[in-house]
Amino acid sequence: MTDDDGRARRALVIAAHPDDADFGAAGTAALWSREGWEFYYLVCTDGSKGTDNLEVSPFELIRIRREEQREAARVAGVKEVFFLDNEDGELQYTRDFLGQVVRHIRMLKPDAVFTHDPTTLFHREQFINHPDHRCTGLVTVDAVYPTARDHLNFPTHAAEGLETHKVLELYCWGSNEPNFDVDISEVLDVKFDALLSHRSQFGQREDFVKFATERWKDEEGRVLERFRRVTLFR
Ligand SMILES: [Zn+2]
Repeated sequence: MTDDDGRARRALVIAAHPDDADFGAAGTAALWSREGWEFYYLVCTDGSKGTDNLEVSPFELIRIRREEQREAARVAGVKEVFFLDNEDGELQYTRDFLGQVVRHIRMLKPDAVFTHDPTTLFHREQFINHPDHRCTGLVTVDAVYPTARDHLNFPTHAAEGLETHKVLELYCWGSNEPNFDVDISEVLDVKFDALLSHRSQFGQREDFVKFATERWKDEEGRVLERFRRVTLFR
């Protein structure tokens, strides 16, 4: 899948924690990569609070989760993972964080950006959306438009050789208003393998696969990754 210049179409998945990108979009990444897309992940926090194990130090956990995320990305066909290493659980909407995300958009020039739906506070009346997810989603939306597009935002990027960039499509997972489905049934095993690469986060494979399959399958036996898609007016 290439654009008008013959360049492979590119997607950047921007997630709060190690494993969020795989929950949200590993199936789509695997499927579209087979069609010629190039996928990249950007993980915004260091994942240092994601454990109930009292024995492991935050420093050790950061190292472990980074390796797990690289392995998961490799399984899903993602070309590279970038880490911002902001502190887990303490993400704030700051000019600095916005600049970090804009820098990666300008560097990678994705056609499509995937992220958390920042408008979701409660999901399916069952979950409170984690504040790091909401913050990452909102910063990403603002980075896509207008910040990465306009050269007077973060003008120092030009000195680093980075050009402004227009993203064409935004896909948000965890949305209460999905309008675009990707049927990932044929790559479901790949998604499981990617998720289960996060060994510090999951128990037994059989238990997780059984639990997730029951929850994720629709009436027709398909598994969908559902997004709210925004096609940006050019
Ligand atoms: Zn998360």
